[in-house]
Amino acid sequence: MTDLVTLTRTLAEPDRDLVVLAEGNTSTRVDDGVMLVKASGSKMATATDRDFVEVRTTPLVELVASAESDDAEVNRVLLDARLDSGAPKPSMEALLHALCIEEAGAEVVAHTHPTAVNGILCSDRAAELVAGALFPDQVVVMGRHTVLVPYADPGLALARAVRTELHRHLAQHDRPPKVIYLVNHGIFVLAASADEALAVTEMTVKAARILAGALAVGKPTYLTDAEAERIDTRPDELHRRQRLAKGDSR
Ligand SMILES: [Zn+2]
Repeated sequence: MTDLVTLTRTLAEPDRDLVVLAEGNTSTRVDDGVMLVKASGSKMATATDRDFVEVRTTPLVELVASAESDDAEVNRVLLDARLDSGAPKPSMEALLHALCIEEAGAEVVAHTHPTAVNGILCSDRAAELVAGALFPDQVVVMGRHTVLVPYADPGLALARAVRTELHRHLAQHDRPPKVIYLVNHGIFVLAASADEALAVTEMTVKAARILAGALAVGKPTYLTDAEAERIDTRPDELHRRQRLAKGDSR
């Protein structure tokens, strides 16, 4: 089983409560301008190699950057971008995967709808998720800055909203985000390896649970900028982060 299939099935383990039925999708860069992404309608829990389709990323990124187009055009571009015209249709969220890979340099992308995170994303406190870091390991694993994208219709409108917020983040910070929160929807994790994608997803769920606990007790107390910056640049933490990216974290 490939790393991507293993990651996909692991994310769908029922105890994790990240996805049910055909929710969620994963992808990986396989070559310059080509990604492997989950096919539309297939289940993560039972994924095999046959549930993934090779897709050219450039037409998808260009579609997201273009002026208005309709659902029929999106469908056509998604189907035409397949390397093998006999392969299944890629997920509609392939547009977002292409952005994460081509515009933010991700090697592996994992999109899930975690119940613990969505409880906050579906509330009026969603902005607290990106208001700051609550604990040191959150900074090490998820980075100091994450992205929050307002609700948009899944598909092209959502991809355009993600592109806008991703570009805003890239202009502000010196590295791409590891986590993109989608209001009333779920999360995208951008990683250097399958192991890192799982680790960042796990930490994102943990951070959401801690935030929910803090909000239930009182007002969340975030690390100060200086405290978060210190964790972000400590040599021992940089070492841990490098090991995580390479996939030898566990
Ligand atoms: Zn989704």
